[in-house]
Amino acid sequence: MRHSRGHKRKKRSDRRSDIVRDVVYICDRCDYRTTYKGYFKEHTRIHTGERPFSCDSCDYRARWEGNLKRHKRAHQGRKTLLCDRCGYKASEASYMTKHKRVHDRVTPAGLTSGPSGV
Ligand SMILES: [Zn+2]
Ligand SMILES: [Zn+2]
Ligand SMILES: [Zn+2]
Repeated sequence: MRHSRGHKRKKRSDRRSDIVRDVVYICDRCDYRTTYKGYFKEHTRIHTGERPFSCDSCDYRARWEGNLKRHKRAHQGRKTLLCDRCGYKASEASYMTKHKRVHDRVTPAGLTSGPSGV
């Protein structure tokens, strides 16, 4: 069954130029290979450990954009955020980020009595 299509319009035919068909990018560190340069660049992150996608609500960093998206969805779904160091609750991730700075700023005065007796 063959339909002869006389005039079919190819609107997006020129997008093909993104894909370089003849060039195969082969990873020199593993067996990965692809013809698409963009995929290859993403792949090399596996070996470099690069995590270019960072969450703007917390210090989470993702290697893949999809992972970050999933992570961000978790921020939205969870209304109440809990500080893992003191139990502080925040409704927004930005509040939590601000709050967590408290833990970075350790105040020695009052907490430790210093060298006693002197
Ligand atoms: Zn590789
Ligand atoms: Zn986050
Ligand atoms: Zn806290």
